[in-house]
Amino acid sequence: MSQDDEESCDVIVVGAGAAGYAAALAAHESGASVRLIEKCGPDSAGGNTRLSGGGWFVSRSPERAAVYLRALSEGFPLPEDVVATWARETALNSDWLRGLGAQIETSDSVHTVPEYPELDGSDCYAGMDTVDGVLGSERLYTFLHNAARARGIEVCYDSPARELIEDPESAEIRGLVVQRNGAEKRLLARGGVVLATGGFEADADLVRTYLGLADVVRWGTPANTGDGLRMAQKIGADLWHMQSAMTITGIRGEGEAGYYLAMPRAVGPHSYIYVSPDARRFADESAGPRHGHVRQHGRYERFPMQSLFVIFDENLRSAGPLSPPPDLLPIGWQALMKGYHWSHDNSIEIERGWIQRADTLAELADLLGLDASRLEQTVEAYNTACHTGVDHQLGRRPETLHAISQPPYYGFHAPPLLGWTNGGPGATGARECWIPSARSSPASMLRAR
Ligand SMILES: Cc1cc2nc3c(=O)[nH]c(=O)nc-3n(C[C@H](O)[C@H](O)[C@H](O)COP(=O)(O)OP(=O)(O)OC[C@H]3O[C@@H](n4cnc5c(N)ncnc54)[C@H](O)[C@@H]3O)c2cc1C
Repeated sequence: MSQDDEESCDVIVVGAGAAGYAAALAAHESGASVRLIEKCGPDSAGGNTRLSGGGWFVSRSPERAAVYLRALSEGFPLPEDVVATWARETALNSDWLRGLGAQIETSDSVHTVPEYPELDGSDCYAGMDTVDGVLGSERLYTFLHNAARARGIEVCYDSPARELIEDPESAEIRGLVVQRNGAEKRLLARGGVVLATGGFEADADLVRTYLGLADVVRWGTPANTGDGLRMAQKIGADLWHMQSAMTITGIRGEGEAGYYLAMPRAVGPHSYIYVSPDARRFADESAGPRHGHVRQHGRYERFPMQSLFVIFDENLRSAGPLSPPPDLLPIGWQALMKGYHWSHDNSIEIERGWIQRADTLAELADLLGLDASRLEQTVEAYNTACHTGVDHQLGRRPETLHAISQPPYYGFHAPPLLGWTNGGPGATGARECWIPSARSSPASMLRAR
């Protein structure tokens, strides 16, 4: 490569999500010249930030937030300087965005209470803020993008970063090799390179290796394939918290991007159960999801970590969409990038074969590859619990015990919907190396679990 291939600036930021924009804006604020490098084109750049709810944790007290984070990460302790930085900075998020010109409002309908209220420190939680008081709809991404643009920070699109350039003598990071227009280009940075390339949720091999998940569908961007992790590993970084991720109940349509399955929050009839491949119930279906965990069997468990089958009846089928369409929940790849609008009565998804329908439970079991008599027994036992009002087997909440009794019956195979992964280069590795989490992300509260 010749000198002509090289450009230089003070700081290179890799990845145009919330973390990347926050780093770029902060570097610019302190007078640095910044280059923001992005793998995707303008239509799909923005990573999970663009597809997210765009809401962040509002902290009432940095001291109590530190207590909460320690409690959330019990068993997976974080260095105290990380806890302190997180607690201090998350309390400043909304004011920082206001300072950039954002209109911020606290949600009065979503995430109004702490997700883990029984943990020490949860009283730090003061709700969730969003740009303009709007959930999702690319609001946070659009604001950050425009704020950067207004300050002359341009994004270099379609430029995947390939590797870090190390000084052979001092081992300091001098820059980055990117792929652009089919050729490799060296970009040099006088003040450092910030890796903000998101997680590895879109890389099936890494998901298998670190999360132990063989069968998942993706909720967010296909661009987050762990590139930053690999680049950091190549220069000697250790990884940490690689097992930490957010899964929730999902449904597969076609391809690798799935749909959020709103079962646990179903309004109206709750005439459904989850069964495993042996056609038995195994989980309290009414346990509310807490970003990757549910409380059941007397403890927090990661859930779902396996594919399951959802079995339900006509009462639930006709009560509304199993996956909220974009006008109800404007988040996720399918809703925002593909514009998929789940049918209001689930009829289109049944026609497409995403959901199986049968007149009897035995026929449904055959369609799903389940043992027919076992499924009949399972539903019978569940319906008895509905009749008595007590689920002795799994402790499902009584108000959700609605019998599966109205044919036709429906079912589908439901892999975990993988939203995001939380691990990355650690601060305690052979080389200090950071992939910052988005300043604006309340999910960072759960990252350490
Ligand atoms: C459906 C959904 C809803 C969510 N809702 C919320 C919410 O309401 N609140 C919340 O706090 N969290 C939410 N999250 C999680 C949140 O979106 C992420 O934690 C956060 O956006 C991560 O920000 P980031 O900047 O680290 O990564 P991302 O926003 O994912 O950005 C990573 C960027 O790096 C780019 N990139 C990747 N590889 C390269 C490479 N080699 N070279 C150059 N660029 C590269 C990607 O294209 C992308 O633009 C949600 C996630 C999903 C999927």
